[in-house]
Amino acid sequence: MNTTCKHLLLSCLSLLPALLMAEPQTPNIVIILADDIGYGDLSCYGAEKVKTPNCDKLAAGGIRFTDGHSVASVCTPSRYSLITGEYAFRKKGTGIARGIDGLLIDTNKTTLASMLKGAAYTTGVVGKWHLGLGTTPTDYNSEIKPGPLEIGFDSAWLLPATGDRTPCVWVENHRVVNLDPAHPIKLDYDVKRGEPGSFVKGIPRIGGQTGGTAALWDDENLSTVITEKSCAFIDKNKAKPFFLYMATHNIHVPRVPNPKFRGKSDCGVRGDAIVEFDWMVGQVLEKLNSLGLTENTLVILSSDNGGLNDNNGPDAKHGIGDPDATNGHRPNGVLRGTKSTVWEGGTRVPFIARWPAKIKPGTSGALMSQMDLTASLAALTGGKIPAGEARDSENHLAALLGNDTQGREWLIEQSNTGTPFALRHGSWKLMPTGPSKPQIKGTMLFNLAEDLSESKNVAAEHPEKVKEMKAQLERML
Ligand code: CA
Repeated sequence: MNTTCKHLLLSCLSLLPALLMAEPQTPNIVIILADDIGYGDLSCYGAEKVKTPNCDKLAAGGIRFTDGHSVASVCTPSRYSLITGEYAFRKKGTGIARGIDGLLIDTNKTTLASMLKGAAYTTGVVGKWHLGLGTTPTDYNSEIKPGPLEIGFDSAWLLPATGDRTPCVWVENHRVVNLDPAHPIKLDYDVKRGEPGSFVKGIPRIGGQTGGTAALWDDENLSTVITEKSCAFIDKNKAKPFFLYMATHNIHVPRVPNPKFRGKSDCGVRGDAIVEFDWMVGQVLEKLNSLGLTENTLVILSSDNGGLNDNNGPDAKHGIGDPDATNGHRPNGVLRGTKSTVWEGGTRVPFIARWPAKIKPGTSGALMSQMDLTASLAALTGGKIPAGEARDSENHLAALLGNDTQGREWLIEQSNTGTPFALRHGSWKLMPTGPSKPQIKGTMLFNLAEDLSESKNVAAEHPEKVKEMKAQLERML
């Protein structure tokens, strides 16, 4: 063999792993997205006042990421980015959606769901949507479209916005479930939470609702219904590759855990709602197991934003926390900040991936974003993303499967209040203008490798780093 042939052979051999990886694989994919569960809320992430054995079991059988992120620190923009693979700030009107806002995602957009559908997956969404439905103002008394079915989902069972805003009804595909046409739903978003007209089933909500009484959900059974519908989807589609996006309402307010979970944590109603969430995870894992699907199902568990110690249950005034009842539990562990802030506690969340056939269990410090699931899962399944679509989604499949310790190089963290953006670069974090609550003026720079709690601003000591990161953020916005 001459030297040229040898070199050619060696080049081919070195490409072999990449070629093998490039072979499309179509495991079932289940994304379990919690609502408002923070970095310190699961026992596999250090929680002690609440136990989450099912989440822990999932983590023990897969990869537990310690630097995994939702894209924004509140529901709607976070979910928008997960589904579209684009930063939400690129589209106006992606703040926290009302229950009467129309679909926020353009129907001609490529989404995580449409990409997987194109790769021959059966796709379904069950649970909290909060990305708008129909056209503003949404009419819940007729066919409600466009919605998830128009952006790549084959089926949908939805809680339209959140439990703390109307309408308080389930939507299946294009229709409200159990709606009596003689009693149409009327919503009034001029009604503020706490005003007399805002109470539905005794709980104050944002936006008043009259009519639709027969269709009202039962707050104590939100988790049960979402679990049952998720398991039914898996049952129905067990014979072919499926993608289930299961978005729980737990642990968003109002927290009304089923009575069987009340008092099951040592940190109040908020903790009980986490126990209930863990039960939901356990039911889905058990369903996969009973059908022999565990081995070849990629389960990804994460949360749409960080936690907030608002311990309200149905008996407490909405939004007013009772810190004593939380018994010292810290929703975001050692991280600074909460949901809706640009501190790490806003977007760094539990992030677990399990796929027994391909993933070796362990932990990873790779910088991961939910926004990258579209490109990464396209790389896995052979799904197609047209040029210009999912433009911020990067392929980090190797990191997701634990074959690479390197995730994103750059990541913008988005909040909805005060400072809108922070930028991550490795362990560096830049806040160009400092947060507004509490107000801190000037640029802030943190080295998270030494200071995970963002307690020491080192901007003055690293002017070159600040300059580099400010310039990069400008380029990315
Ligand atoms: Ca949320």
